Amino acid sequence: MKKITCRLCSHYCQLKEGQAGICGVNSNEDGILTCKVYGYPTALHVDPIEKKPLYHFLPHTQTLSLGTVGCNFKCPFCQNWQLSQAKEFDTTNYISPTKIVDLALHHKCESISYTYNEPTIFFPYAKDIAIEAKKVGLKNIMVSNGFMTQELCEEIPHFIDAINIDIKSFDENYYKKTLKGSLHVVLQNAKTLKQKGVHVEITTLYIPSLDEEQIESIASFIADELGVDTPWHISAYHPDYKMTETKRTPIESLKKAYSIAKEHKIQNVYLGNI
Ligand code: SF4
Repeated sequence: MKKITCRLCSHYCQLKEGQAGICGVNSNEDGILTCKVYGYPTALHVDPIEKKPLYHFLPHTQTLSLGTVGCNFKCPFCQNWQLSQAKEFDTTNYISPTKIVDLALHHKCESISYTYNEPTIFFPYAKDIAIEAKKVGLKNIMVSNGFMTQELCEEIPHFIDAINIDIKSFDENYYKKTLKGSLHVVLQNAKTLKQKGVHVEITTLYIPSLDEEQIESIASFIADELGVDTPWHISAYHPDYKMTETKRTPIESLKKAYSIAKEHKIQNVYLGNI
């Protein structure tokens, strides 16, 4: 039987009958591309929007946040690995897109956030929720590793109002070998989404192995390609998942990163997890 190509993320998995892609949640079921986590959020919380983090979009409001299992990256330092690397999920409690919107309204949220794990891989669900959310005036937010396909990038601005994208390193080799993604795809997608009018904020988890040269390159990319008005969140690393031996990011490194960002005239720089 013919393989199906999944066009959600830039892995472009080619799936044989019954086969799931790298994320483990999109699969070829009887010749139809099926998102197995559709309707089954594994995490569902009301969060302050600043926790996403988004500091320049609907400040001081609450956002209904949801995520599923699975991820298209394999970051050894994942701070949400219990969800992102999980394979099993509860299928006894289906939650429809309209039910999610009702919950957001009930909890007086002004937006819905697709977060905790990579929303690109559950975009079919996120998109259907976003359509219902827009009907009642709620905004939609993604917190993403930015590895969606160019095709999805074209579609996202029709449904998503704001996005926080991780730039985890400025080393293509590291992105490919360790994270199992691609730096140039992430950078291009950040530019495309910003150009298309989506509110973009950037996050960098400052793992102590990141050198100053890379911080410098990320700062330069944000300032020159996205614009100095693009907020940059630089978060301290705490030992997690497969990198429990790595120490927390020293405060001095964070302060140095902050001053590099300011040398590049980035207007809004925030140090997190400290
Ligand atoms: S979302 Fe990405 S990793 Fe998952 S099946 Fe589609 S192309 Fe593959």
